[in-house]
Amino acid sequence: MLRPLGKEALQFEREDTGMNIGFIGLGNMGAPMAANLAKAGHTVVGFDVAGTAAEGCAQATSAVEAATNADVVITMLPNGNILRSVADEIVPAMKSGAVLLDCSTVDVESARAVAEQAQSAGLGALDAPVSGGIGGAAGGTLTFMVGGSGDAFDIAKPLFDIMGQKAVHCGPAGNGQAAKICNNMILGVTMIATCEAFALADKLGLDRQAMFDVVSTSSGYSWTMNAYCPAPGVGPQSPADNGYKPGFAADLMLKDLRLAQQAAESADADTPMGAAAMALYQTFVENEDGAGQDFSAMLPRFETRGRD
Ligand code: NAD
Repeated sequence: MLRPLGKEALQFEREDTGMNIGFIGLGNMGAPMAANLAKAGHTVVGFDVAGTAAEGCAQATSAVEAATNADVVITMLPNGNILRSVADEIVPAMKSGAVLLDCSTVDVESARAVAEQAQSAGLGALDAPVSGGIGGAAGGTLTFMVGGSGDAFDIAKPLFDIMGQKAVHCGPAGNGQAAKICNNMILGVTMIATCEAFALADKLGLDRQAMFDVVSTSSGYSWTMNAYCPAPGVGPQSPADNGYKPGFAADLMLKDLRLAQQAAESADADTPMGAAAMALYQTFVENEDGAGQDFSAMLPRFETRGRD
């Protein structure tokens, strides 16, 4: 039977038979994401410079080899410079019409530059950073914030549905990264506010459980208080109940707050609270004992301090 031509035919074939996926960057996040795609029946060829592998995926010996026959190439890399260098390698090797789907958290400028490079080579391009952390990557419950064309989003949608529970199309290239850093700037600022309020409450003799009971149902409520409470033994289970083992590491929060400040500078946006949060996480990670701890470990930091 003849199949209709065009995008519908391509999508039908892909859904029917599974896609060929190249996956570059098989670290803490990338390896479980790739494994979930393979488990769902897609053919996944992975590559990582560190030689790591993902369950159910073939292993390539280079990024180019992973990308060559792929319908979609997913990258999950540490930063924008590495993304740019990987894109320089793989874009010329990808087949026309394929989609380059970057899920890393990178600066908005790098996301837009890589998208432009991919589009000029006849490829679709999406920036789709995630929230949900390592647990979300393993459980297939990530949230994707996506920038790029509607056509590329439609092609990647079935993959988002496997790796995550929600994908929001935020507009053109770079807008996924913009959404991610704005969200995480709010997260960093509210975590600090929640921690310093707990430390103040301690010094005023207010019981932490009473503080939680009031704030979590009053106008000071927030995700950091209600869902990820930084005080051990209070509220739902969180990294505070596990010795502040991440969770979401303070180092990664610092990375995202830096990206937010970089974007604010290039867009001439006034972000004083974001700047203060970045400075505080920088001190915590670089000069105190914050590196490798969850970002909610700001609470024990404040606990031990006075006003100077
Ligand atoms: P990771 O360091 O565990 O993994 C990155 C992987 O990329 C490493 O295995 C590294 O060897 C590989 N890599 C580096 N350069 C490469 C290259 N040129 N070619 C191929 N592979 C290369 O980091 P992660 O925790 O998996 O995070 C990945 C991205 O996801 C980052 O941008 C991070 O900010 C973002 N992110 C992480 C979390 C989290 O909780 N870990 C949450 C949300 C977003």
